[in-house]
Amino acid sequence: MAGPGLYLVATPIGNLKDITLRALEVLHRVDLIACEDTRVTGKLLKAHGIKTPMTPYHEHNAARVRPRLIAALKGGQAVALVSDAGTPLISDPGYKLVQAAIAEGVGVTPLPGACAALTALTASGLPSDRFFFAGFLPNKKTARIKALKELAPVPGSLVIYESARRLAASLTDMAEVLGPRHAAVARELTKLHEELRRGALAELAAHYQEAGAPKGEVVIVVAPPGPGADGAEAPDLDAALRAALEDHSLRDAVALVAQETGRPRKEVYARALELSALELYSGKKDPGE
Ligand code: SAM
Repeated sequence: MAGPGLYLVATPIGNLKDITLRALEVLHRVDLIACEDTRVTGKLLKAHGIKTPMTPYHEHNAARVRPRLIAALKGGQAVALVSDAGTPLISDPGYKLVQAAIAEGVGVTPLPGACAALTALTASGLPSDRFFFAGFLPNKKTARIKALKELAPVPGSLVIYESARRLAASLTDMAEVLGPRHAAVARELTKLHEELRRGALAELAAHYQEAGAPKGEVVIVVAPPGPGADGAEAPDLDAALRAALEDHSLRDAVALVAQETGRPRKEVYARALELSALELYSGKKDPGE
């Protein structure tokens, strides 16, 4: 038996094989599986010969079912929470259940696995060092534009869930608010018709306006603001600084390169100081210069 407590179990986002050995073991051993739709989770369990009882837990019955689940957990039961696909709580139910479990002193154990947001980000070709998961944007245009304006200054890639039906409208609004940034549309990840389409936001918007709504599920990843966001090679800051420092004072070189590269003057100045220090240290530069 799995020890008592709440287990957050990630399930596949398409390919049934994308489930961990640990997830299968826990789903097999817990007393109860709380899931969004017993028909969807039932198929997964059947495919792996798991006969654990299920109970529905979704946005329409959560307030009513949550106290029962908490009572079972406090009574020493092991309960797994799964969603229809991917990681529970990620644009799926579970947050309030986890909060309640923590408040009641019940152990919470996460079992990582598939998540469409991370799967799309890794294959997008866009910066993955910093990213912001925005979930679903509002359906209505005015609210969507407002949300995009809030997201515009975020200094990292944006990862957004969208319905295929609203994809063209959303991309059009993104091109309008976020400007000429590079983006990727990841469709049907891990499934037979998996597709990654990359390009400028305006190009992608034009493509889906023309082609119509694609089939299946999509994630949009958008490049961060600033140099390189349009997919062009970001200008090489060090090379530009070295060239400018040959003929200009530090101050003038910084002003020139900040203008050329579009990078903040503060960042260029800091790098110019680092470069000067490095060259002094390596003996390339005469300290008397
Ligand atoms: N909890 C899930 C996760 O971990 O990714 C997300 C659930 S959310 C209700 C469903 C949305 O996730 C879809 O509308 C789509 O944006 C995205 N999604 C899920 N599976 C996908 C797939 N195989 N390919 C592309 N996007 C997917």
